Amino acid sequence: MSRKVTDNDVEATSPRHMNTIIVGSGFAGLGLAIKLSQQGREDFLVLERGSDVGGTWRDNTYPGAACDVPSHLYSYSFALNPDWTRSFSKQGEIQAYIRSVAERYNVLDRHLFDCDVQGVVWNEDTATWTVTTSRGTFTADTVVSAVGALCEPSLPDIKGINDFEGEIFHSARWNHDANLEGKRVAIIGTGASSIQIVPAIANKVASLDVYQRTAPWLLPRMDRPYLLPERLAFKHIPGVQRLSRAAIYAARETQVVGLTRFPLLMKGFEALSRAKLQFEIRDAELRKKVTPNYRIGCKRMLISNEYYPALDRDNVDVITDGIAEVRANSIVTKDGTEREIDALIVATGFHVTDSPTYNTIVGRDGRTLSEVFDEVGQQAYKGTSIANFPNMFFLVGPNVGLGHTSMVFMIESQINYVVDALKTIAAKGIRTVEVRGDKQRAYNQDLQDKLAKTVWNTGGCASWYLDKHGNNTTLWPDFTFQFRSITRQFDVDAYNVTTSDALSADQKVVAAQ
Ligand code: NAP
Repeated sequence: MSRKVTDNDVEATSPRHMNTIIVGSGFAGLGLAIKLSQQGREDFLVLERGSDVGGTWRDNTYPGAACDVPSHLYSYSFALNPDWTRSFSKQGEIQAYIRSVAERYNVLDRHLFDCDVQGVVWNEDTATWTVTTSRGTFTADTVVSAVGALCEPSLPDIKGINDFEGEIFHSARWNHDANLEGKRVAIIGTGASSIQIVPAIANKVASLDVYQRTAPWLLPRMDRPYLLPERLAFKHIPGVQRLSRAAIYAARETQVVGLTRFPLLMKGFEALSRAKLQFEIRDAELRKKVTPNYRIGCKRMLISNEYYPALDRDNVDVITDGIAEVRANSIVTKDGTEREIDALIVATGFHVTDSPTYNTIVGRDGRTLSEVFDEVGQQAYKGTSIANFPNMFFLVGPNVGLGHTSMVFMIESQINYVVDALKTIAAKGIRTVEVRGDKQRAYNQDLQDKLAKTVWNTGGCASWYLDKHGNNTTLWPDFTFQFRSITRQFDVDAYNVTTSDALSADQKVVAAQ
């Protein structure tokens, strides 16, 4: 990667003060950096533990990695890309897009890369956050956590797995030096990542054992390359691309009715998925193994035209007996069968409701975010603010997740809210702003009431949408335009506010706008 080294690209030798620190530069952190920069703000810095922007799209380089949401929607509204080569882009093209946007909006020099944030601690006396990192210590008036939900790989706690002697790696940390050709390979997990990896490697490896705990529901992947005339139209005919984006948005939003209000409506998708299964898998025994036993939509619906045919190959086995232990060169299932392997791919997802980052954030009363969440459950106000954590905002916080459409839409809604919050802080000379506990509780009660009716809660499955208490603390239970509507303006009345007499120089710049 080549990028400009700037004043910001240096270690903090003594605590260095910024007005705003953004942690993470995926779609969320980068989008906020661009919006702040467009406001003329300079006193902010993005701390990113990786060596580039892109977040999950930088990290997930496994074979077959691609998006399940069409690219014309899965992109920033302010940076449409007429050059997408296909309807559902692959990882490399998405990562290149994110990087090109960072360059175009000239915000790379507001980043500090290879900077691992280790602690974020509130100081009541100074009303600032102390941010300790692998590249020095910072202080900030406001911190925005934009680390994302799918950033910390979750490794399965299986007996003996640490003593495995062959190649072993998580799907999100793919080891491109490991040569799997002609090897006996196993993969644990059958989620969104696995169903893309399996067809991408099945014809290269000698054998592939797919360890399935819960069968996923699969729908057709309506993916195709864009024809040149379409791309020219996207580029040169005003409104065509916006129209395409709006049509994709509207079509996807119709799923909300079945997912959140009338789960029985999902039966239509089930019929389609069953027909697909019937058509794509010849072996009746295998069909039975991979037929899900819960309502479609309860877990994320997956799309692939290649997964079932890959499972149907002679060198691929689906194993459903449950793993008892991993040995130096094999996996033993609960029925006592031992299968030898050379390499093990762990496609077991991420720490979503129990992110390790929660342990590193210490709020006003000295408790960490994980301690607060242990007590009240993982919750926030509008997915963005959390009581006990003043002057802190979360992008992709609790209950803003989606399975059916573009997270970038939700992220842009939150960015708008945070930008307006920062403007309000500056304009009103606010020293501290902290969401009121009663507002947060009422907001979450309403969310949980809505979630109780959704297929995610009633569909008869266990999923990472639910926390250890069984509460859905991950998904947004309504149309996404409803979320856009509640984040249109920063509602300062829902917050406890203290003010300072003097405005800082940076605040004056923003207040003057
Ligand atoms: P995931 O959906 O959480 O799937 C993890 C898989 O591992 C599941 O099949 C799970 O089984 C299994 N598993 C977990 N722990 C296990 C254990 N101890 N023993 C055996 N099996 C175990 O993770 P993912 O596939 O990485 O996907 C995560 C999310 O990333 C997706 O939901 C999606 O939001 C996003 N993603 C998107 C795309 C895309 O757009 N195409 C691609 C990849 C990922 P159970 O089902 O029984 O828990």
